[in-house]
Amino acid sequence: MFAVGLTGGIGSGKTTVADLFAKHGVAVVDTDVIAHRITAPGGAAMPLIVHAFGATFVAPDGSLDRAKMRALVFSDNEAKAKLEAITHPLIRAETEREREAATGPYVVIVVPLLVESGAWKTRVDRVLVVDCGIETQIARVMRRNAFSREQVLAIIARQATREARLAAADDVVVNDATPMEQLSSEVRRLHRRYVGLARAASR
Ligand code: ADP
Repeated sequence: MFAVGLTGGIGSGKTTVADLFAKHGVAVVDTDVIAHRITAPGGAAMPLIVHAFGATFVAPDGSLDRAKMRALVFSDNEAKAKLEAITHPLIRAETEREREAATGPYVVIVVPLLVESGAWKTRVDRVLVVDCGIETQIARVMRRNAFSREQVLAIIARQATREARLAAADDVVVNDATPMEQLSSEVRRLHRRYVGLARAASR
């Protein structure tokens, strides 16, 4: 199935834009949702995580102890690589499964770190970047997550730069002080284009 990879920095509006595509009947596969599912109680990654890191990384309910794992991988690149070696192949396989099972003209795959983890770019047919200024990201994420300005800046610093993301884009949705109606009509325009591209690709 023809796939549009949707990416953008934290707070850029990926989820908001993906929801607008869903309104057109487009299947949305969200790699963050999949990452969460495989580390939920009984999730496919859990036995592998226990094997690699020990049972101390499992919360009482059987899910990944996210706070503890976040603290570890933040300061330990080797542990980060080990965790990703477990989760990334599972996320990839599940994403492919959902992509093939999807109905509709094409599928939107939300990949927050599409530009950072280069391989994703080759797995999708088109890259759509949701773009906004850093101050907009900071204001949104401070409000949404009750984070401090410093916390948001630390996350942004670990993500690709705005320039790197834009360089990887086939299409860009500007979502700064964009009214919802404008965002919605921009998505409608892109949707029409993607329907055409998906049709042409299937011929
Ligand atoms: P991401 O998924 O990229 O982290 P979200 O789609 O969750 O970003 O958007 C971050 C926050 O900003 C959410 O609370 C969302 O409702 C809000 N937001 C996003 N775009 C707009 C917009 N154009 N106008 C108003 N609020 C917006």
